[in-house]
Amino acid sequence: MESIGVLMICPMNSYLEQELDKRFKLFRYWNIPQTQQFLKENSNSIRAVVGNSMAGADAQLIESLPKLEIVSSFSVGLDKIDLNKCKEKGIRVTNTPDVLTEDVADLAIGLMLAVLRRLCECDRYVRKGLWKTGDFKLTTKFTGKSVGIIGLGRIGTAIAKRAEAFDCPISYYSRSEKADTNYKYYPSVIDLASNCQILVVACSLTPETRHIINREVIDALGPKGVLINIGRGPHVDEAELLSALVEGRLGGAGLDVFENEPEAPEELFGLDNVVLLPHVGSGTIETRTAMADLVLGNLEAHFLNKPLLTPVV
Ligand code: NAP
Repeated sequence: MESIGVLMICPMNSYLEQELDKRFKLFRYWNIPQTQQFLKENSNSIRAVVGNSMAGADAQLIESLPKLEIVSSFSVGLDKIDLNKCKEKGIRVTNTPDVLTEDVADLAIGLMLAVLRRLCECDRYVRKGLWKTGDFKLTTKFTGKSVGIIGLGRIGTAIAKRAEAFDCPISYYSRSEKADTNYKYYPSVIDLASNCQILVVACSLTPETRHIINREVIDALGPKGVLINIGRGPHVDEAELLSALVEGRLGGAGLDVFENEPEAPEELFGLDNVVLLPHVGSGTIETRTAMADLVLGNLEAHFLNKPLLTPVV
């Protein structure tokens, strides 16, 4: 397979990069100064694209690669891939479901605890030597808080399972009610937000779910409510979130993702009721290795004419 051209879009994982380099003819897109010239010269040898949650394959890139057969994403989210264009051109698409579910759900619970118990602020308190000046202020209990989940998919379900262990009543919103669960279903996000104390975004990012967290939803969650976003940044109208936090219309937020990554709005930096993470939901050595193995396994299966491990299209 050494002659098969694979275009890796951005740096994502050194193990994956090394293995792709060993097994295929790897092109590192981010190292290429003249991409137009590069595509002119190499587009006929590129049969696979490897992207991630930051960059994938848009219509323009797909159109410029006439021999493209497969887009294998080092992520479960597909929002950076033009799926319609892939379908239209018969290009296969794979992602990395399941292997990252536990890590992302663990992180969502971590964010809930961190926001309510002010873990990061507590840590700063000790480090700054402020403990000597007096005890830390009282915080908010997590056990028993009602948790509303937008998108009861793999990750949403894993978050629900964990939150149940903290005696949290679970409710959810998605496009359809799930038959295999007793969690309370709300057919509207506003109703879900009005009836929970912690609202978690765990749905996929699509044109319909962009800004699913808007001013109305934030106001329904209210001044004691907490928003947790482990989905994608554009799920949240960040300007509305900022004003609600600054004006005290929302109790707090735990955010792993942002609208313009790797930027996070500086207005958030001074707020103690927010916990900000640099998109690390699946960021453990174990999980990233398992994701890399899935990307490699899918590419090898494709080029050996075997069934794909995790096909999307
Ligand atoms: P999944 O199993 O496909 O679940 C996605 C859920 O989104 C489904 O339950 C679906 O429910 C719901 N959904 C889709 N469109 C919707 C809409 N218009 N309104 C309401 N709900 C909608 O995917 P997953 O593996 O759980 O991953 C979910 C997302 O998490 C990914 O797409 C990704 O963006 C994000 N993620 C983030 C990180 C991180 O590092 N922070 C890591 C991994 C994944 P219905 O079909 O019933 O509507």
